[in-house]
Amino acid sequence: MTIEQTIKKYAPLLKEVTHIPQKEVEILLLFILDKNPIWLHLNYKQECTCETELAKLIKKRATDFPLEYLTSRASFYGESFIVKENVLIPRPETELLVERAELILKDIKNPKVLEIGVGSGIISVILAKLIPNIQIIAVDINDNAINLAKLNAKKFDVEHQITFIKSDLFENVPDQHFDMCISNPPYIQNDFKLPRNVKFEPSNALFGGHEGDELLKDIIDNTVKNKIKFLCCEMGFDQKNSLNKYIAKFNHTKLDFYKDYEKLDRGFVVEFKHE
Ligand code: GLN
Repeated sequence: MTIEQTIKKYAPLLKEVTHIPQKEVEILLLFILDKNPIWLHLNYKQECTCETELAKLIKKRATDFPLEYLTSRASFYGESFIVKENVLIPRPETELLVERAELILKDIKNPKVLEIGVGSGIISVILAKLIPNIQIIAVDINDNAINLAKLNAKKFDVEHQITFIKSDLFENVPDQHFDMCISNPPYIQNDFKLPRNVKFEPSNALFGGHEGDELLKDIIDNTVKNKIKFLCCEMGFDQKNSLNKYIAKFNHTKLDFYKDYEKLDRGFVVEFKHE
């Protein structure tokens, strides 16, 4: 069977899990063959040599298992990151958080940043690429995340700018000066029924407590306690009111909420005023 026929044969099996079934078969095929889309274009009529392997991946993908875990890759900020099971898959809206942080950091000389919940490393790695003189401490409670983030830091050659520490939120954060804390923490309500595909991702990267915003509030408390001036966080689309009220308790000179690509409330940037 040719490559073209093979793609046509398997695409219908993914109809229930994606709106781009043919494209996904192509991605999996190229992943197996380690080729790029131009190669595919030129070789449609060639014999397909990897049908057994492809069939296996398609079967797994048809259970809603994420494509990114199958290919160990996800794109973020125009770059291809390594991803692995047990670590959250990067989401495009987190690019907006990085953009907000960059706007502030580019005006600070030798900025010191703390990232809470580094996951795959996307935020810290892109910030390190964008701001060459930055120094980042990046923490996560999950060993798999720390190891993966280290791999990505190495891939993008920013290892010298990031120190990784295993820590539950601020628990093991060293007592030093930071200009900014940044986080895309778990913020989903504990009893929220996740879509089938998201169930394959680690729950300690997703659930933020009974209300959902408990960890965000903890991060706000600790940012203030540690006298960190800027805090940039992603949040749930329905958490603006409660976080707005919460932040009002603390002295601050600026608070901006921002929306994601779907025009849903998705995060905030606050500038605290410390005594
Ligand atoms: N910082 C990582 C990301 O934004 C991980 C976030 C998390 O695990 N909640 O993807």
